[in-house]
This record gives sequence, structure tokens and C-alpha cells, in this order.
Amino acid sequence: TKWVYSFGNGLNEGRAEMRNLLGGKGANLAEMASIGLPVPPGFTITTEVCSAFYDNGRKYPDDLHAQVGAAMQRIEEAMGLRFGDADAPLLVSVRSGARVSMPGMMDTVLNLGLNDTTVEGLARSSGDERFAWDSYRRFVQMYGSVVMGVAHHHFEDVLDQFKRTLGVVDDTAISATQWREVVKAYHEIISEHTGQEFPSDPQAQLWGAIGAVFGSWMNPRANTYRKLHDIPASWGTAVNVQSMVFGNMGDDCATGVCFTRDPSTGEDVFYGEYLVNAQGEDVVAGIRTPQPMSRARAEEGQNPMETVLPDAYAELLRVRSLLEGHYHDMQDIEFTVQRNVLYLLQTRNGKRTAAAALKIAIDMAREGLISKEDAICRVPATSLDQLLHPALDPKAERVQLTRGLPASPGAASGAVVFTAEECEARAARGEDVILVRVETSPEDVHGMHAARGVLTARGGMTSHAAVVARGMGRVCVAGAGSVHIDYTTMVMTIDGHSIAEGEWITLDGSTGAVYLGRVATIPPILSDDFNTLMGWADATRRLGVRANAETPDDAKTARRFGAEGIGLARTEHMFFGPDRIGLVRQMIIADDEAVRQRAINALLTFQRDDFVSIFRIMAGLPVTVRLLDPPLHEFLPHAEGEIAEVATALGRTVEEIRARCASLAEANPMLGHRGCRLGLTNPEIYAMQVRALIEAALQVSDETGKGIVPEIMIPLVATKAELEVARRAAEAEIISVLQERGASLDYRIGTMIELPRAAIQAGEIAHHADFFSFGTNDLTQTTFGLSRDDAGSFLPFYVDHGLLPKDPFVSIDRDGVGALVRMGVERGRATHPGLKLGICGEHGGDPDSIAFFEAVGLDYVSCSPFRVPVARLAAAQAAL
Ligand code: ADP
Ligand code: MG
Ligand code: MG
Repeated sequence: TKWVYSFGNGLNEGRAEMRNLLGGKGANLAEMASIGLPVPPGFTITTEVCSAFYDNGRKYPDDLHAQVGAAMQRIEEAMGLRFGDADAPLLVSVRSGARVSMPGMMDTVLNLGLNDTTVEGLARSSGDERFAWDSYRRFVQMYGSVVMGVAHHHFEDVLDQFKRTLGVVDDTAISATQWREVVKAYHEIISEHTGQEFPSDPQAQLWGAIGAVFGSWMNPRANTYRKLHDIPASWGTAVNVQSMVFGNMGDDCATGVCFTRDPSTGEDVFYGEYLVNAQGEDVVAGIRTPQPMSRARAEEGQNPMETVLPDAYAELLRVRSLLEGHYHDMQDIEFTVQRNVLYLLQTRNGKRTAAAALKIAIDMAREGLISKEDAICRVPATSLDQLLHPALDPKAERVQLTRGLPASPGAASGAVVFTAEECEARAARGEDVILVRVETSPEDVHGMHAARGVLTARGGMTSHAAVVARGMGRVCVAGAGSVHIDYTTMVMTIDGHSIAEGEWITLDGSTGAVYLGRVATIPPILSDDFNTLMGWADATRRLGVRANAETPDDAKTARRFGAEGIGLARTEHMFFGPDRIGLVRQMIIADDEAVRQRAINALLTFQRDDFVSIFRIMAGLPVTVRLLDPPLHEFLPHAEGEIAEVATALGRTVEEIRARCASLAEANPMLGHRGCRLGLTNPEIYAMQVRALIEAALQVSDETGKGIVPEIMIPLVATKAELEVARRAAEAEIISVLQERGASLDYRIGTMIELPRAAIQAGEIAHHADFFSFGTNDLTQTTFGLSRDDAGSFLPFYVDHGLLPKDPFVSIDRDGVGALVRMGVERGRATHPGLKLGICGEHGGDPDSIAFFEAVGLDYVSCSPFRVPVARLAAAQAAL
């Protein structure tokens, strides 16, 4: 088996398409090298080695050593240097690289191959002793912490101590002799903490680092990240070994990170940060303040690369358009300049905010770089949620505390916390929290996930906090330098204000501002790009998109977001209003027919008004109204006062009412007297609702001249007979309304398919239905035989332990619940070819589920109003 693939210097055995085998980093290094870009030569050890390693009790394949040796030799030949050579040593970096970039993996080790002997050779061959010792101290620290597991801060403490004694601030001000001392101290720290000597043999260093990369694939951080992002452990990671180029050789050297377009806004401007005389992660580590790339983006006092290193900058501009043209996407590039010569060390499709994804997709389609279909697929459907996020109300009062970098847009308020653990704990209790850290690291990712927003004191636009927050759609303000955090007292101070854990602040991730307390927000304004994309999506999708809405506000939101109708109006929500609940209780509890009818008549007026306002808002679009569904006991009075109120209204004693309520109680109400069972045993309730609906439809038809066609939906049907009887009763009421009014009206009567039996019997049930709407919430409960209300105690365990791939209430269980949906579709249509088919569970707004509904051929999905744009885009993506 071929375990090792070389790249650079004319021998490129890999390609971008080989990401599964070579990991993202390795595949793209090979690709860049093969299109002639300056990539330092190296090789990639495949992800298959990682899998083989774990399959064979952590042992490498036999011939791996020989293949690595041969590939090392090719690098030596390409560079004209020898690994471990005392005069002119080859140095390499060892870099992990999974298929998708993954925090939690081993950090890169740079300058590998240095020891007390080779460092002198490097000093001589480069003619720069300071550079050689700077490289060595970096290597010892990286190797010591990353491979040998000595905590970072031990090294940092030593360095800080040194700097204090020397009275310097910048690392670049430290001389070779001084670095020698630091390196000696570092060696001591390592042997003190590990009981082992720092390995001086370059081969031992190399294999130590390779082993650390493969080992890190199974470390807890990586495991957590994989779980969070559905990445299978079987994918494995690759290891890249690459000859070093040096950005720390002086003032004509630099290292940087840049994006071919602005990853926050999507603007077509070259964007990024770099540092002169620096190496590796210096830019993101926040040790010195990175400088901007272009003059256009530079502020007073900044030194843009365009000015400082004009040749390398010009070369980078050329690379920028070359890479975009090649990858047809915005790229995130890591580069180093060694003595004015540019080298590329990484490229990948850049992470971006939802707003940037949208703008870039539309712009690139217009530029002809990608097709409209590509553009539709480039914007993750769920990310539209972020565009619909609130911004600060410009009129709101505010006290600004400070300003940092606008790292991830949107506005968020919450209680300040200083640890990821506290953040998670409070969020789990339903609190809004803002995570405040000096800087974040992969250990904080779970806390960031739980937070509304993230504030850091250190780090730039490409710092860990910024990148991760943008990816997650969390608001982030990064690098707010005046924030001082005391982790022991759990208090931060910002220019004299001191803010303790639990106090509120507000972040504006679009401007970088930090405010005291809670600042009011306003809903987002939808951009032209948003409308353009939605237009393209609408022209592409086959599935209709409706909304679940019953209040006028929801109906308006639904229309604003482009819903093509209402797929589910739940009438019970209308029963809970303060002006109605009393009447509902009388209706349920009264045993005197006349009293009961009086309550029902009063409710009729309310209900009719509800329907009138919805029909008006929906202006002729289809509206599906579900007749009363929940168990009656949900409406029963509980508090003493409530019971007394009903007693007075009905002229009964409190004891009588309490006894009646007790008799209505059920052990398993969700499987009890609800849905059509209720409507069939209390026909006057459904009759009232049907009458209200028809009268409202007639009224709004008259007003608007548009024929309103109400869709009446009977819930929780299990048998053909239930629907047959319920339908007959509804039609009798409809006919009597129409006769009273001397009017005519089109209507449809259909049912929810939300019980397994209904799906199985769909062919029979379809005889009496004009439409089906799959109620996938109840269908999931009843298919799995679990209750959503009680599943919290074990469902997360199931998902964590792989007993279920995903929460079936979030993403439809295709094999079980989905199979029933498919059966319902096929059997229903076999009986009734024109049967309209929709879905109205939570799954209607979930892109994965929408792809399934497209595949089984439903006519529409219906979801909550705020999910409508997500569903429109997901439906288009599913159709492509
Ligand atoms: P990450 O996946 O965390 O970005 P990388 O493997 O990309 O880690 O390494 C981080 C940084 O280290 C790179 O951006 C680059 O600056 C530096 N680096 C890695 N390999 C080399 C190399 N061969 N020569 C010079 N710098 C390197
Ligand atoms: Mg890293
Ligand atoms: Mg990188």
C-alpha cells in the first residue's frame, strides 16, 4: 500500500480531490503545488495510516518507515539540505490535517530537526544567530507542550520572567545569547515535568511528532468536536511533513493569514493580517498586534503589507485571483515570506458568516465564477437563521464600555461568565450568557456553543474565538484590549468599570462595541442579496413552503418571509386567551346542555374573529386549520381561584367542579382522549369550529372578492371510520351554514397522518380525505413509543452513545418514521391520485428532513415562520 504522498518541487502525487485520503491540508498543498504555486516541498502520510494504526493496537504498517524515509530523502534533495546535518540542517514542520479542519487535533510543530548541534549549523548557514536560536526556542516549546504534554504556561512563565528582567516587551528584541538561556531553561522544565530528556535525535523527534498527531485523533477534545459535528471517528487524520520556510529571519520576512474576500461581510476585498519577522501562529496568538494586508484597510499608524513588503504583496494578489479562479470559492490562505519571497502553506475554502456566504455566492454567480445552482448550494440553509438575527436598536440608550474587533456580527446580551463550564451550566438553565475570556482555545468550544456571544481581550479577526464564533453563528467581539479579567475573583474591569460574573453586558459583533447591561434590539433588515437568493431558490424548488401559524403576528411574519400559505393553524392556541379560557372551561365541564351551548356560542364569536384576521392576512393563500386536538384536561382549571370562577359561572359548588375535573383526568393524556376522539365524542365543539371557519371564509371572500378555500384538518385519525364520521359531521355543519346564508363555498377536508396505523391504512383513509398532512412530531412519538416530554432523560444519552444517529425530533428518522411517511404517500396516492400531501411537524424546517420530503414527493412542507427562508432554500437545494 502507498502510505505516503509527496508534494512540491515537481513531484505532486496528490490532488485536491484526494481530501479523504490526504486530509484537507495535504490535498490542497498538493493541488497548489501542482498548479505551480510556491509550496515548500513535503509529504503527506495518509488517513489510512491513522485507521490502520487504531485497528492494529496502535501499531504502524510495517512499510511505513521505509516510505517516510524515502519521502524525507526527496525533500532533502529538493532543498539541498540534510535532516540532522550539523552544518546545514533541513528543518520540517509536522502538521495534522483531517478531511475537515478540526480543533482539538495536535497543534503544528515547527522547526523540527533542531538540537544543540544543528542549531549552530543553522546559525552558520543562515548567517543569523538570533534567528537560529529563536527557531530553536520555538521548537522546544512547541515540542515540549504539544508532543510531550508540558503545559504551555510553564514555558510562558519562564519567558515572561526573562523579558521582565531584560526589560523588553517584544520577542523580537531578544538576542541570540538570551535565547540560549531560555532554551536551557526550557529543557529543564521539560525534564522536570516529564522525567524525560528532550529528544535531540531528529529521527526520534520526527516520529514523536507523527505519533502525537495520530494520538491526538482520539483525544477527548477531538472526540467531543467530532460528536458535535457528526464526524465519524473512522475518517482518521493525515500527517503532513513539510520543509520549513522562515518568516522569522528578519524584517524582509513575515507570516500571515488572509482571505480572498472579507469573511465577515463578503465584500470583494483582500482581507487578512500579517506580522513581520514572525513565525507560525504568532499572528493568531495575539503576542504582537497583527497588521492589515492592504493600504485600503489600514488605519492611522498601521503598517500594511502592501507598503512594507510590496513585492510579496503583489505576488499574493496574483495568487489570490488564481486560487479563486481555481477553486471557485473564497479561500483562506496561510503564507510566509522568507527574504521577500512568498510561500504558500495552506489554502482552504474560507469560513464565513452567513451574510458573507450570501454575498459571496451572489457575487460569484454574477462574476460567472459559479452557476446560480452553485450559489444556491453555497449558502447553508440553516445559516439564514443568522441573517434573521437582531441588531441593536439605534434609538436605544446605551453605555459603551469599550470596543474590540467586530469578529462575528449580530447583537447579543447576557450575563457575563468567565469559564466555558459556567457558560454551559447557566445556558442549560435557560439563561442568556456571554462568555468572556482573555482568549479562547478548543477547550472553550462547548461553552461558546452555549453562549449568546463571546468577548475576548486578545486576538485578531482570525483568532480562535473569531473563527469559531463565525462558524457557529455566535456574536463575537474579539481583541478588546481594555478588558482585564481576573479569573480568581471572577471580575472583569474595563476602563474603571468593574463587572462581576452574572452582570449583564451587550455585544455588537458588527461594530465591535461592548455595552453595559441590556441594550434593546431590532429585527434584521433583509438585504437585496437575500431577496435575490430567495428568488433563485423559489424558481428552483418543487416543494411548496407554508408556515405553522395561528396568531396574526405569526401569520404576518410568515408572509414577510415568503410562506405560501399556512400548513397548520392550531386552534387550541386560540383557546388559551384570557378572554376565552373561562368559556372553554365551562364548555368542557358543564353537564347542562343549555349552559354548555351558551359557552360554545360565545366561543364561536371569538373563533370566527380569529379566522377572519388570518384569512385577511393570508389574502387568498391556502390556510389549513386543525380542529381542536389536545386532551381536554389541558384546559382544566387547577388553581383554587380558577376552580371557584368556573363554579360561579356554572352555578355549582367548588367540590362539584373539583370532582368533575378529577373525573376528566387521564393517566396518559397524549395517548388519551384527544384529537378526533374528542371531536367525535363532543361533536358540538367541532361543529362550532367548522361553523366559525366557514362563516369567516364567507365574510373574507365577500370583503376581498377572493374565493377563500378553507382547509379543515381532522387530527389524530387512526381509522377510516373516524375520518368518515368526522367528515360527515363537518359537511353537515358546512351545508347548514351555506343554506342559512344562501351562499356557496369551496372547501377541503383532510386529516393528519400522525399515528402509525393511519400511515398503514392511508389507502383506506384517503377515500375520505382531500389532503394529508404528516404530523411528524406525534408520528415520531407514536412510532418510537416515546413521549417528547419524558425523552429528555434518555434521548441525549442515546445520541451521545450512538444508539440513535440524531435526535429524531429534530431530524426525521428516515428508516422508521420516514418509512411510514413514504408508505402513507404511496398508499394515499394509489387511492386518490390528486391527494395533496404536506408535512407540518418541526421537521418541516430542518434541511435534512426537507431533503427526505423532497425525495418522497410531498407537495409542501410547513414550518415555524422564522424557519420559512431556511425551508425555501433547503427545498431548492434538495431539488438540485
Ligand atoms: P493549523 O491547522 O492550526 O492552521 P498549520 O499546520 O496550518 O496548523 O500550521 C500553522 C502555521 O504554522 C501555518 O499557518 C504556518 O504559519 C506555520 N507553518 C506550518 N508549516 C510551516 C512550514 N513548513 N514553514 C513555515 N511555516 C509553517
Ligand atoms: Mg493550530
Ligand atoms: Mg493552518
